[in-house]
Amino acid sequence: MLWRLLSIFKHNVGHMTFIPLPAFNDNYIWVTQATSQQTIWAVDPGDAKVVIEYCQSQQLKLAGILVTHHHKDHTGGVAELTQLYQCPVYGPASLAPQLVTHPVQQGDEVSVADNMFLVLETPGHTLDHLCYFAEPQDSKPLLLCGDTLFRGGCGRLFEGTPAQMLSAMTKLRSLPADTLVFGTHEYTLANYRFAVAIDPNNTKLVEAIEEAESLREEGTPTLPSTIALEIETNPFMRFDRKEVVEGAAKLLKEDMALDAVNSFAQIRRAKDGF
Ligand SMILES: [Zn+2]
Repeated sequence: MLWRLLSIFKHNVGHMTFIPLPAFNDNYIWVTQATSQQTIWAVDPGDAKVVIEYCQSQQLKLAGILVTHHHKDHTGGVAELTQLYQCPVYGPASLAPQLVTHPVQQGDEVSVADNMFLVLETPGHTLDHLCYFAEPQDSKPLLLCGDTLFRGGCGRLFEGTPAQMLSAMTKLRSLPADTLVFGTHEYTLANYRFAVAIDPNNTKLVEAIEEAESLREEGTPTLPSTIALEIETNPFMRFDRKEVVEGAAKLLKEDMALDAVNSFAQIRRAKDGF
């Protein structure tokens, strides 16, 4: 029954489908399948049971795993899944050889369900954080971004510096505007409460909030997002907009930062204390 409901959230992207399997409180484990194949790939499987149940209910086999960073809610199911399916695991070198069988770095390519994904290093949330980007011939570009970019927000800086996260945001901002962005947490409404507090005159943001609220009322995931939407509405992609930095400074009762790195840090600090 649960899986039948989930099929509502299936995103057909060219010859691939993406399905967000809910895990823990607010994680999504994205699974992707090439329509011609009876195998799936899982992104950041923090919980093995969720993926195993899905595979069994759909009579699918797990062909491989992508990992974005070392946090337990993204890797907790990897050992059990590889034991069961003997599949390769692509991810940061920090997790090799225990969990990751194929360590990858910036510029490497990974073939997933008939698509080549390019590895982007985006340290900030953690030092080992990777994103995966693809430009399939038959669909919009795709970004699997873990906890680097959320709809309306970005990951907390647990290990990296504001300068590193700023450069991750700059890297992601330069991707094609229509790129579909598959983040791994349903944080959208909370992120938007902060965003609108510091950027209240942003009409695109107000529209995005209304859309996200009605999706959540129906129990529908607010993801994937797009790079275009994030550039227009996400304060961490808008660190060089005066009104956004001004809003963050006001919230913190500080003077407004004047350079990009300090502006980004100021917005992040305002969110952390929000
Ligand atoms: Zn994380």
